[in-house]
Amino acid sequence: MIPLEEARSFVLTKCVAGEQVTVALAEAGDLVTTTDLAAAGPIPPFDNTAMDGFAVRAADVAAAPVTLEMVGTIAAGAIPDIEVGPGQAVRIMTGAPMPPGADAVVMVELTTMATDETSVDVAEAVPIGNHIRPTGDDVETGQIVFPAGTHLKPAHLGVCASIGVYDIPVFARPRIGVISTGDELLDGPGPLGIGQIHDSNRHTLLALVNSTGARAVDLGLVPDDEEQIRDAMVAAAASCDAVVTSGGVSMGDFDYVKKVLTEIGDMRWMQVAIKPAKPLAFGTVDGTPIFGLPGNPVSSMVSFELFARAGIRKMMGHTDPIPAPIQGIAGADMLRGPDGKTHFARVHATANGNGQYSASFSGGQGSHQLSAMAAANALAIIPNGNGILTGEPVDLLLL
Ligand code: AMP
Ligand code: MG
Repeated sequence: MIPLEEARSFVLTKCVAGEQVTVALAEAGDLVTTTDLAAAGPIPPFDNTAMDGFAVRAADVAAAPVTLEMVGTIAAGAIPDIEVGPGQAVRIMTGAPMPPGADAVVMVELTTMATDETSVDVAEAVPIGNHIRPTGDDVETGQIVFPAGTHLKPAHLGVCASIGVYDIPVFARPRIGVISTGDELLDGPGPLGIGQIHDSNRHTLLALVNSTGARAVDLGLVPDDEEQIRDAMVAAAASCDAVVTSGGVSMGDFDYVKKVLTEIGDMRWMQVAIKPAKPLAFGTVDGTPIFGLPGNPVSSMVSFELFARAGIRKMMGHTDPIPAPIQGIAGADMLRGPDGKTHFARVHATANGNGQYSASFSGGQGSHQLSAMAAANALAIIPNGNGILTGEPVDLLLL
């Protein structure tokens, strides 16, 4: 067995960041930028009001309550062509540009407008600048809004739009093929024949791939047949940037994935000192990384989290591809025996009110018990030994 870190560094050496491309803003979500993005102009682009109310001269309302002459209305999007003179006010809506002459906004709740709309009573004094959002308050002209290497999340996309950047330089979104292998697998709802089970891995793995921001490509189900596995792998390596398979990498008589990949690729078959997900076949076919994950449903997911997610993140241009654990405490005993492996237990972690996550097993810990994985929101990392007792610290890999 080799340590997790060694297996993962080997995976990361073979996964390289993709092509640098420019994509439309609408296509940029979850990608990583390749250059600094600077603002050509300020945000907000003009002084505007943060409230519905009245634009006034602060000096005029210093002795409030006062009555001001109302000289017009400015809506959001309107040109502020009404000057506010001494003793005057302009009705103004949130987001509208400040009219010349005014230096403060009184919110509508502090005012009473005359029924003929010729005057307004202001109940309280306000300071200069009250409720005004000044030009450049969020972003200044020339400011680097995000450095190269930024992972574009929803708010980043909004900032790009607000600075008028609609073509975004990024690492290309990798296409990741997903294949299930096994004679026992049935695609679709059934009915199941004798000895058959539904192919669940492909559905979890497709969703896991998409959760990284990469694009999952469903390459279907391949039986335990050497020829068909070879054809499927060659085609997958040619059409995708990486391939994730499940099944066929253990010690069984019909575990052809390992055999075929050894023949056609530059593969390494590893026994990693972890439980679940000990076997991993990883390498390249014509330069395309192939993740040969184990078939047991929990194992394939854990293996994805530990190896494929890190590899795909590196391909997407992340400089910190390995997801970092957070520290929580054991909400119940997490017992195990020494076996030379690090265990990744399926746990449910909840905030315990003391600013900590308290984690307990989310169900049965067998590698076929996928329902405990579904009930889990984290993997608890239990080092080799006798386990972790209630109240002791435990590292959690959030799912
Ligand atoms: P293998 O790694 O091919 O030896 O498979 C190990 C176990 O995982 C066996 O019980 C398989 O039936 C099961 N298995 C393999 N592939 C899948 C799959 N795609 N969906 C659900 N179970 C699977
Ligand atoms: Mg199999």
